Amino acid sequence: MGDLYLDLEYDEKYCPDCDTVKSLYQFSKNISNSGGVRGICRECDTNRSRKYRTERDADPIKRARYLAYMKEYHAAKKQEVAV
Ligand SMILES: [Zn+2]
Repeated sequence: MGDLYLDLEYDEKYCPDCDTVKSLYQFSKNISNSGGVRGICRECDTNRSRKYRTERDADPIKRARYLAYMKEYHAAKKQEVAV
């Protein structure tokens, strides 16, 4: 009876990004999410971050903002350690 639940191959999830029902294996795990997996599949996740990064690097304003953010982030981290 319990074996059925162990076989994740039968667990499927709908990805709204590519409009496809895929196996749970094709979704990245996300502990903070109630379902335990990310809302979009790995493929779309990769595509999204790649697209985001490409767009960001192509836009000098976005890129400068990102670099400023990273600088601030690391400065804040350093301060945390110092205190
Ligand atoms: Zn997808």
